[in-house]
Amino acid sequence: MPPSADDLARTLRRMPSVDECIRALPADAQHRFNRSYLTSIVRAVQDALRDAIAAGHEPAADSREAIVREVVRRAAARIAADSAAWRPVINATGVVIHTNLGRALLAEEAVDALGAAARSPITLEYDLEKGGRGERDRMVEEELCALTGAQAATVVNNNAAAVLLALNTLAEGREVIVSRGELIEIGGSFRIPDVMRKSGARLREVGTTNRTHPHDYAGAIGPETALLLKVHPSNYRVIGFTAEVSIAELCRLAAERGLAVMEDLGSGALVDLRRFGLHREPVVRERIEAGAGLVTFSGDKLLGGPQAGIIVGRRDLIERIRANPLRRALRCDKLTLAALSATLRIYLRAADLTQTLPVLRLLTRTPQELEIVARRAREILMQRLGADFLIEVAPSSSEIGSGAMPGGEIETRVLRITHPVHSADALAAMFRHADPAVIGRISEGAFTLDMRTIEDPAVLAVSFHRPGSISAGGGR
Ligand SMILES: *Cc1c(COP(=O)(O)O)cnc(C)c1O
Repeated sequence: MPPSADDLARTLRRMPSVDECIRALPADAQHRFNRSYLTSIVRAVQDALRDAIAAGHEPAADSREAIVREVVRRAAARIAADSAAWRPVINATGVVIHTNLGRALLAEEAVDALGAAARSPITLEYDLEKGGRGERDRMVEEELCALTGAQAATVVNNNAAAVLLALNTLAEGREVIVSRGELIEIGGSFRIPDVMRKSGARLREVGTTNRTHPHDYAGAIGPETALLLKVHPSNYRVIGFTAEVSIAELCRLAAERGLAVMEDLGSGALVDLRRFGLHREPVVRERIEAGAGLVTFSGDKLLGGPQAGIIVGRRDLIERIRANPLRRALRCDKLTLAALSATLRIYLRAADLTQTLPVLRLLTRTPQELEIVARRAREILMQRLGADFLIEVAPSSSEIGSGAMPGGEIETRVLRITHPVHSADALAAMFRHADPAVIGRISEGAFTLDMRTIEDPAVLAVSFHRPGSISAGGGR
């Protein structure tokens, strides 16, 4: 019940000053954070408390001390939540390249290179031979050329930036021909027609959703044509009565007409993944060999490196891209370049990639390995959760994530966790609120932990905040 106007005025008058509240905060919070941060937190808490009191939601805050206590309690909780806002979680979704959980995990060498570049001055744009200014991405360029057979390469912030920059450089104010079957949307609002518009190029669609032929492209080529664009439909697959113009055919046609082909390959594998028993994904080197003028792909999908957009191809085209002022706005920093270079050097060695690159290591774990992990994980969780919970080891399949290998699911083992009273959603919330948080998925009505992304089952020995009781809400 909302309080009477008199009561309300009296309660609000008891609201202590910001200073008084800050002085009442735990000593470590007072020491760890600066004054303006603490002031903003206390003000926000006081505002929320005033609103709650006015709406009658706050049980009688009858003494000044009670109000100070409440402000301090809420402020301390906010400070704690703030410092833990971005934290490591346990990925039990089985999705190896999970965009919301930060995509590819880096190889140890890449992590070390990143730390070294952060701690010490490096020859980022410095040529030791000349003793003068060098090109920022020269080192990764050499590595990328060796790995893909391209003449030249450059790197920007992500693949979306790579596509934008390449289109802007080569086709601003002119036409780019794309098959209707390849006008894709990638999660997170990357849509080919939108990126095209922002680049200043005009989209010229050809063919139909399911079938596009060489003569469709040929018929659309005219004086306004700047580029033929091919896009790898990485997150879906058209099956049935379909026809696609291969990269080789497209390059042949482009060469006859004096045009270049650019391909947005998305995940961009550097090696043929069938070698590891995985589904086939187009390999960058093949596309260069087929004659693509430019190929763009992400650094943090199947390649297994940091977020980056890689552009490889003909030297003259890459030089034009380098000269575009937009590149300065889209370039990546030394940490990215250091981690990318270290990752590429792993590919250059003869090393077993499935040992050194976390993405490939996780993707190639066998059902037998996962079965063993699942059994141990089950024991750990049975101890943590108690007898009310039913935990079963079951076969299932994992998605690769980030639009790599659509439909190319791989066999896995999961723990299916159920409870006689609590729903799968409630269990998912309970695991999300555990310390550290565990992110699973809901599959066929059961809360499921996929072992593909759990290397050491001991990480599942988490603390549940409210043992024996769970919050039914969706949580944050
Ligand atoms: C993932 C993807 C993109 C976007 O790449 P980011 O690195 O996320 O910017 C663009 N095109 C295709 C085909 C993709 O698969």
